[in-house]
Amino acid sequence: MGISRQSCPLHADEDILGERVDQAGTLKFICERSGHPGGGPLTWITVPEPPDVPGLTGLAEELDLGTKLPAVLNEHAGKWVEYGVVEAAYADAHPDEFAMLVARYGHTAVAPKTYTVSSFLSGTLGRLSKRGDVLLSWRRPTGRWKYNSGISWWALPPAPPADAEVSWESLGRSMDYVPGAVKRS
Ligand SMILES: [Zn+2]
Repeated sequence: MGISRQSCPLHADEDILGERVDQAGTLKFICERSGHPGGGPLTWITVPEPPDVPGLTGLAEELDLGTKLPAVLNEHAGKWVEYGVVEAAYADAHPDEFAMLVARYGHTAVAPKTYTVSSFLSGTLGRLSKRGDVLLSWRRPTGRWKYNSGISWWALPPAPPADAEVSWESLGRSMDYVPGAVKRS
């Protein structure tokens, strides 16, 4: 299922084989050629669309995530921001929308699930990165998100220095921002 090969948006002749990075079927693609914005290799991800909800892009557009997610990154301008930080900041800024998305897609802080609100938001960020609106760096996860083998870190262009980071762990937060989150000791 799904497309495991995609061409680089800047090198149409470069056919990249996607590497599966999680149980939800997220694929990571890396084009190693030169000529991308920022100079280095271009990395992007795709996540599977939820099978029962057509018009995913429609919902992301309806919520104006193309503006709201970069606005979250702008709070940490000049730094790479771990996915969990982006999600919590979006939930803080738009609690009603986030609650609606959790009700619709679920969250691993509530119950284990393959396609979640995190898949939806990171997939939307992935699409914004293909447009060049945000930058993606695939790195180690911290704290609560460590169950992943890797996790997406995001920034606004131009690319911040590699060591300029805002990790989930550094915030010292709980998952209380997720409605219905199961408390862990
Ligand atoms: Zn390329």
